[in-house]
Amino acid sequence: MTEKTPAKGRGSASRAEAVADYCERFFGHFGAAPAASHVEDLRARTLRVAPVGDLQEFLGEKTLDIVFHASLEGDLVTPGSRLFDRMLDWLRELGRCSWVPLAARELPSRLPVGFGPLAPYQGVASLKRGTQHDLELVVQAVFVGEERHEDLVVVTLSEAGEAHTVESSVVAEVLAAGKVEPHSELAHPSQKKLKQQLDDALEWLTQWAKEQAAPREEEMLERLSTEVQRLTNYYGELIAQNEMNEDLREQLAHDLDLRVSEEVSSHRMAVEVNVVCFAVIARPVLDFDYEFEVLGKTIPMSWRVDCSDGLITSPVCPTCAEPAKTAAVCSGGEELHLACESCFGVCAVCQAHRCSDHGLVSCHIGGELLCSSCAPRCEGCGSPTRKSRLKQQDGTWLCTVCRE
Ligand SMILES: [Zn+2]
Ligand SMILES: [Zn+2]
Ligand SMILES: [Zn+2]
Ligand SMILES: [Zn+2]
Repeated sequence: MTEKTPAKGRGSASRAEAVADYCERFFGHFGAAPAASHVEDLRARTLRVAPVGDLQEFLGEKTLDIVFHASLEGDLVTPGSRLFDRMLDWLRELGRCSWVPLAARELPSRLPVGFGPLAPYQGVASLKRGTQHDLELVVQAVFVGEERHEDLVVVTLSEAGEAHTVESSVVAEVLAAGKVEPHSELAHPSQKKLKQQLDDALEWLTQWAKEQAAPREEEMLERLSTEVQRLTNYYGELIAQNEMNEDLREQLAHDLDLRVSEEVSSHRMAVEVNVVCFAVIARPVLDFDYEFEVLGKTIPMSWRVDCSDGLITSPVCPTCAEPAKTAAVCSGGEELHLACESCFGVCAVCQAHRCSDHGLVSCHIGGELLCSSCAPRCEGCGSPTRKSRLKQQDGTWLCTVCRE
């Protein structure tokens, strides 16, 4: 039997290119906006960067002319090169600065106009100073399929559990601007809470990495299917040519099975996420906590002011799922609940407090807000209106418009 197998088709992304992308992102993240010169051919790709601040001191260079191929003159970045190792060291160094308390710019004594409980819910909040602990992680995501591909990403996880990738590191920015409060009295998170946050972040990252891998995996599976088809055809022809030789035919069929299972196992995508470093960002916050007595029950509403940057976190309106800058209480459901300005209204007839999910409508004639018990529908046009605007005419309840 002649052992003649055709050449394999492979994806074009090479490892060195992945390193080049990684490098570009690294300098982008850490405040050394790269003046990139993109050239299709990696052998000619160079990257000029001007590290600033601590990174400049750390690397000991004002400018770097980075190359990704050993045949070129310049600062070589490839796994194992000196500069590549220094880049990883920098990430570890950053990891040491894992406690980043932010300074408070101002401590407001009241919420800014446009925030807070909606009339008629006026009340005095109890003010509580506190610390919000957000996490920032620098993560290396590794995708191994036919090729190995690495990605460097910065991820933040807020105390409330919201995670997302960010363009640039808040920690690096804060450090560069010298905004860390050295004598901060902000509370550290408990070990238990920190562990929980890290677990949450890792869970999110694993899911994120799978999503990132999915399109690559799909492409790879397409190539796998082509490859399997090609092998099947190739061996099929050989088998057909050797119709009389049963031993050889069996041998060929066996070889085909072997080749296919080899291909299948080389087309599996493995995804790995490694946390290179993480930092706890401690934000000084003020909570404006309101409590309202409604129908004998107490319902809380809170707005949080981040005193480091003035950003306000509003409670979320369950009716429209948007942050409620101003909010009130709807009593139309089984449970009392908060409702934002756009979803809330007081019935003009019975003064019931309702949201749009619990029967709040506006009269199609006068435009005033009505609850469902005070807004029967006109039997002529089907629109809701006040009872007082309906009159019976020939046995049908009609609104003022339909009676004209
Ligand atoms: Zn709403
Ligand atoms: Zn009503
Ligand atoms: Zn409601
Ligand atoms: Zn009508």
